[in-house]
Parts: sequence; C-alpha cells; structure tokens
Amino acid sequence: MAYADLHIHSSFSYDGTSDVETILRYTATQTNLSIIAITDHNEIAGSLLAEKFAPAYGLQVVTGSEVSTSEGHLLALFIRERVPAGMPLYDTLMYVKKLGGICIVPHPGARFTSSVSLAKIHTMLEDAQASKVLSGMEIFNAGLLRTNSNAQAANFALEHEISMVAGSDAHIYRCIGNGATGFAGSTLDELRHALEMHQTHILQHYPVSTRNIIGGWLYHRLVRSSRQLLKRSSAQAT
Ligand SMILES: [Zn+2]
Ligand SMILES: [Zn+2]
Repeated sequence: MAYADLHIHSSFSYDGTSDVETILRYTATQTNLSIIAITDHNEIAGSLLAEKFAPAYGLQVVTGSEVSTSEGHLLALFIRERVPAGMPLYDTLMYVKKLGGICIVPHPGARFTSSVSLAKIHTMLEDAQASKVLSGMEIFNAGLLRTNSNAQAANFALEHEISMVAGSDAHIYRCIGNGATGFAGSTLDELRHALEMHQTHILQHYPVSTRNIIGGWLYHRLVRSSRQLLKRSSAQAT
C-alpha cells in the first residue's frame, strides 16, 4: 500500500509559493507519501523538474498539469507536455488521451474556483471515449474554503464508475499530504492501474481550517514576492 498526493502547486504556478526542491524535501521528510504530482496551472515545467530531482529524495513523480478547460479545472496526469488551456472539457480529455495520459477532476462542483460540475462529469462518463480517460475525481480537496462540495462529490462517486481521489491542492508546502490517494502496490504503473480500475481509496489528514490556508498562503506569497524583488534589485545593481 502506498500513498500519492496528486494535486500540488509549485512556484511555476502563478499562485504557488514553494520551489520544487522544497516540495520534494518536505514530502520526503515530513509525510508518508511516496508519490507526488506537481500539477501547476497550465504549466508542466515544475513537474518535469520534480521528476528529475525525485530519485535523490527517494520519491516518484507523476508528471502532470492542472489544465483550465472552458468548463473548469482538470488534472492531466502521466503527460510530458503542456495541454492548451481554454478548450472544452471533452476536447481536453481527447487531447490528454492522445498524449497517453489520464485525467482527474479536481474540486468538482466547488464554488469560488473554476470547477467542472457533477452533471458534466456524468455526461463524460456516459461517453465511451471520454470515460476511458476520465479515471477519477477528487472527493476530498484539502484546499477548499467551502467544503460542502467534497461531500457531494463523494456521494456522486459512490454511484458512478470513477476513482475516488484526495488531493491537498497545496499552494504552500506545509499543506502537502493533507489529502492523499492510497492504492495497492508501490510503483507509478500500479498507481495508474488502480486509478484506471477504480481501486483507490483516500486519506484526508488535517481538518481544513480556512484561517490556516489563507494565512499560510498570504505569508508565503509575501516571502516569494520580496525574494523576487530582492533578486530584481540585485540584478539591477550589477
Ligand atoms: Zn483548481
Ligand atoms: Zn489546484
């Protein structure tokens, strides 16, 4: 049995705060995860970098990205190149299929963030092609400020042929592992197989505290912007 956090943002995301090595170091020393996916918004560079550094930390990396479709966010996993943003959900699924990847709907039905609706997931699962690529949906997203959509997603997943996934949606490294997906085995292939066969289960760690999430994010954003400012002013000075 192994655990994977398949929804983490690095500083390659416009709203992420932690660099890739910090994420790997924290994961290796402070969590029970053996696999992570860095899924930056419409970016894949951080994910590929993490894959390169991961062996030094004893970790495995699923490469991927959180793609902004015109119908909400979509996690594209096991891909090695960027997926264009702004396409309809179905077209994005087909694009990921061509790249050899699979997809998970993050924070389905959540308000205040661009989310695919449960009705839309239902439509995709009825489609023979789309349902092959759409392997899972988050039934626990640890980054949500309003958590009622998690319960609705869990009820939906129980009644449909789809994997249950939990993700931290960490934008600061201390949130990594707040949501994790468990599967039988230990390798990336076994994780993918479990997702495709709908044989995953979830772990949710800390109770979600809105104050902690916002406070932590603001603090790290501030640190990141002041570091960038310092870098810029020292570059100008030389
Ligand atoms: Zn999202
Ligand atoms: Zn996210």
